[in-house]
Amino acid sequence: PGEAELEALQHADVAALLPMPGAESDKYRRGVLGIAAGSARYPGAAVLAVSGALRGGAGAVRYVGPAADAVIAAFPETLVSDRGPARVGRVQAWVVGPGAGDDASSVAEVLGAEVPVLVDADGLRLADRDAVRARRAPTLMTPHAGEAAALLGVSRQAVEGARLDSVRELAAAYGATVLLKGATTLVADAGGGVVRVNPTGTAWLATAGSGDVLSGLAGSLLAAGLSALDAGSVAAYLHGLAGRFAADGAPAGAHDVAAAIPDAWRDVR
Ligand code: AMP
Ligand code: MG
Repeated sequence: PGEAELEALQHADVAALLPMPGAESDKYRRGVLGIAAGSARYPGAAVLAVSGALRGGAGAVRYVGPAADAVIAAFPETLVSDRGPARVGRVQAWVVGPGAGDDASSVAEVLGAEVPVLVDADGLRLADRDAVRARRAPTLMTPHAGEAAALLGVSRQAVEGARLDSVRELAAAYGATVLLKGATTLVADAGGGVVRVNPTGTAWLATAGSGDVLSGLAGSLLAAGLSALDAGSVAAYLHGLAGRFAADGAPAGAHDVAAAIPDAWRDVR
């Protein structure tokens, strides 16, 4: 694909995209986000994805998966279900994959949904490329360099050495919007023709669970009706700021980053 149009994300652009509830809003209009994540081995990934989602403005978060007890203990406002993703009530968007282990059937069910879907972490490995390409609703994939390398069949170093080409190549191969995480996060639209560059990141975000928070946050923005390109870029911007506020020159855990999302939101607004 020809030249990419590079866009540096600006504070004012992000501010204009933040979904604010109107006087007539109800929780359904604000957006219900489904999250299929976590496993017996990684229940915390589900908790962190929900934590990011609740700070992302969704009217409600619906969780499906084996970590429901942990999710409810941490966030009692979460709606949980013991059915598979294809059988829960209506949602406006899905997040699938963080800590999901080998739950390929949940990934396949979510990819079959006719609403926007964010695929992260284990979900990236389990997602069938043709199933992603066949989707009509938007798909947002959020790999880090190692995950992107596995999808492209190249080394991690090759991705790190050619991040712009890599994110565009993935977007073209999957017909999806792709957010490539890292020191400078890049978000390429489905055609790969537009790539947004996020300037807010901080190396303090290089901590376990950080990406799970981002996936929930971006998922909420999808549920609120933002395009995949806007949801990914606004989430990366807020997540970077939240990392700065949470760490503020000293280490912070991923749950602290999630707790700082409201500060990031206020700063942008
Ligand atoms: P994950 O690897 O899925 O946990 O995601 C890590 C998160 O931390 C992503 O949002 C990355 O963009 C961010 N991150 C990791 N390393 C850095 C870094 N050196 N500078 C800025 N952000 C980073
Ligand atoms: Mg991750």
